[in-house]
Amino acid sequence: MTCRCSSCVRGLKIETALKSGTREELAGLVATLHSSLMHAQGDLGHLRAILDGSWPSSVERLSAALSVAVVKRRNAVVR
Ligand SMILES: [Zn+2]
Repeated sequence: MTCRCSSCVRGLKIETALKSGTREELAGLVATLHSSLMHAQGDLGHLRAILDGSWPSSVERLSAALSVAVVKRRNAVVR
Protein backbone atom coordinates (compact mmCIF):
# COMPACT_ATOMS: atom_id res chain seq x y z
CA MET A 1 0.00 0.00 0.00
CA THR A 2 1.23 3.47 -0.87
CA CYS A 3 1.95 5.92 1.93
CA ARG A 4 -0.74 8.61 2.17
CA CYS A 5 1.19 11.24 4.13
CA SER A 6 1.10 14.78 2.73
CA SER A 7 4.68 14.55 1.40
CA CYS A 8 4.03 11.33 -0.51
CA VAL A 9 0.67 12.57 -1.84
CA ARG A 10 2.38 15.75 -3.05
CA GLY A 11 5.17 13.66 -4.60
CA LEU A 12 2.63 11.61 -6.55
CA LYS A 13 0.91 14.78 -7.79
CA ILE A 14 4.25 16.16 -8.93
CA GLU A 15 5.14 12.92 -10.74
CA THR A 16 1.74 12.84 -12.46
CA ALA A 17 1.87 16.50 -13.44
CA LEU A 18 5.42 16.18 -14.78
CA LYS A 19 4.41 13.22 -16.96
CA SER A 20 1.06 14.38 -18.32
CA GLY A 21 0.09 17.58 -16.56
CA THR A 22 -1.27 20.66 -18.19
CA ARG A 23 0.45 23.99 -17.84
CA GLU A 24 -2.23 24.97 -15.29
CA GLU A 25 -1.55 21.86 -13.18
CA LEU A 26 2.18 22.55 -13.24
CA ALA A 27 1.61 26.22 -12.37
CA GLY A 28 -0.60 25.14 -9.45
CA LEU A 29 2.10 22.79 -8.19
CA VAL A 30 4.77 25.46 -8.46
CA ALA A 31 2.55 27.86 -6.50
CA THR A 32 1.94 25.21 -3.81
CA LEU A 33 5.64 24.36 -3.56
CA HIS A 34 6.54 28.05 -3.39
CA SER A 35 4.05 28.57 -0.58
CA SER A 36 5.43 25.55 1.29
CA LEU A 37 8.98 26.86 0.86
CA MET A 38 8.00 30.30 2.18
CA HIS A 39 6.39 28.73 5.26
CA ALA A 40 9.38 26.44 5.84
CA GLN A 41 11.79 29.36 5.55
CA GLY A 42 9.67 31.33 8.02
CA ASP A 43 9.70 28.42 10.47
CA LEU A 44 13.44 27.97 9.99
CA GLY A 45 14.14 31.65 10.68
CA HIS A 46 11.93 31.57 13.77
CA LEU A 47 13.55 28.42 15.16
CA ARG A 48 17.05 29.69 14.32
CA ALA A 49 16.31 32.93 16.20
CA ILE A 50 15.14 30.92 19.22
CA LEU A 51 18.25 28.72 19.13
CA ASP A 52 20.71 31.59 18.76
CA GLY A 53 19.03 33.57 21.53
CA SER A 54 17.86 36.51 19.43
CA TRP A 55 14.14 35.69 19.82
CA PRO A 56 12.68 37.59 22.83
CA SER A 57 11.36 34.49 24.64
CA SER A 58 14.19 32.18 23.55
CA VAL A 59 15.44 31.44 27.09
CA GLU A 60 11.97 30.42 28.28
CA ARG A 61 11.31 28.34 25.16
CA LEU A 62 14.67 26.60 25.24
CA SER A 63 14.38 25.92 28.98
CA ALA A 64 10.95 24.33 28.48
CA ALA A 65 12.21 22.29 25.52
CA LEU A 66 15.26 21.15 27.49
CA SER A 67 13.06 19.96 30.35
CA VAL A 68 10.99 17.91 27.90
CA ALA A 69 14.12 16.54 26.22
CA VAL A 70 15.66 15.52 29.55
CA VAL A 71 12.53 13.52 30.45
CA LYS A 72 12.44 11.90 26.99
CA ARG A 73 16.10 10.89 27.16
CA ARG A 74 15.68 9.61 30.71
CA ASN A 75 12.68 7.50 29.63
CA ALA A 76 14.58 6.25 26.57
CA VAL A 77 17.47 5.05 28.75
CA VAL A 78 15.10 3.22 31.13
CA ARG A 79 13.48 1.23 28.28
ZN1 LIG B 1 4.72 9.18 3.13
